[in-house]
Amino acid sequence: MSEALNVVILGAGVIGLSAAHVLSTRYPKINITIAARDLPDDLSSQAWSSPWAGADWSPIGEFEERKYRIESKTFNKLWDMIPTGLVRKLPSRICYTEEIDANKLWYKDLVRDFRVLEKHEVPSGATSGVAFTTVSLNPELYLPWLQGELEARGVKFLKKRVYSIGEAAELAGPKGVVVNATGLGARSLIGVQDLDVYPIRGQTILAYAPSVQEFLSYPLGLKSVPTGEATYMIPRPSPAGHVLIGGTFQEGDWDLSVNYETASNIWSRCLELAPSLKNPETKILGHNVGLRPARRGGPRIEAEWFELPLKTEFLPTPNGQEHKFPVIHAYGFGPAGYQGPVPSLAAAIATAHGKCDLITV
Ligand code: FAD
Repeated sequence: MSEALNVVILGAGVIGLSAAHVLSTRYPKINITIAARDLPDDLSSQAWSSPWAGADWSPIGEFEERKYRIESKTFNKLWDMIPTGLVRKLPSRICYTEEIDANKLWYKDLVRDFRVLEKHEVPSGATSGVAFTTVSLNPELYLPWLQGELEARGVKFLKKRVYSIGEAAELAGPKGVVVNATGLGARSLIGVQDLDVYPIRGQTILAYAPSVQEFLSYPLGLKSVPTGEATYMIPRPSPAGHVLIGGTFQEGDWDLSVNYETASNIWSRCLELAPSLKNPETKILGHNVGLRPARRGGPRIEAEWFELPLKTEFLPTPNGQEHKFPVIHAYGFGPAGYQGPVPSLAAAIATAHGKCDLITV
């Protein structure tokens, strides 16, 4: 491989930034540019998902072999980052509305300190539960930290909305590689236009609630999904006392406005799980809505060759740039962009490096 390989990563969400991190760790001589409409200097934009995440590891849905393999590696990686202060070691209780056989829970060996709850430890409203230790991050600190690390390695950041995958290829140059980490943007990016991409709306409340010192929830995929409700509290590593309280899991819903009835329902459900929220020291710091970039069929992590000029564009490519170029797609991580990606991105990056046998993860 040429040491001058140019890689343009489209997207600066946790996926684009993590891809750049893995790539620059493995291959320090590659030139990397991250081009994105939203960068970590704008954490209030609802046009991207990453600022709005919990962001912890929690069990989502049923067992899948690929998910288990990917998430256990990422969990261990985040666990190793606890001494940095960016990642918090978080005691957890997950509640069930029926009796469960804890030995059959697919995630029991993925997390740490797993055990079944004694009856007196099960919150009111639940029938049974388990306790374990997980990890959480604060996206508002983690994303700028990743950007800083990358800049120190020479990664360039370009604030730019790109309208087509061909435009990204032009940025990368004739021998370049494009990583497509555009999240929901993959639905409208000309040349990709993946209509399997869809939003899962998540409304949350950010609170100062120092009495809540554990991750408390019902697992996504059980009590939560039929009504579009999710019930969880995620204490952050810092600032001290900050807790993300959720939430909703509304598939196909693009509404970015805060619904106060929804907020009130979230609050009532969480009060049932954690009556200490009534303490006078608790303060509501904000109401948030973010869209999880999901994809029917699961995340797309694969290579695809394109030709410039794209047939779907109307003009010839300027400057004699006609050529074939590889794109590594890395989007559609839905509710698990923080807990899922490390090994998948490593495989994607190895593909980029080899320009470009299809990867398997
Ligand atoms: P995004 O963060 O959306 O980033 C996409 C990037 O692409 C942005 O930089 C955007 O500007 C750029 N882009 C898009 N189109 C274009 C274009 N045409 N030109 C240029 N740039 C473009 N995950 C977990 O793992 N754990 C959790 O606890 C968790 N909790 C969540 C709670 C809520 C309420 C929400 C909303 C999400 C949660 N998630 C959680 C999911 C997580 O936030 C996402 O999976 C993750 O952020 C997806 O990252 P991404 O980089 O793929 O997409």
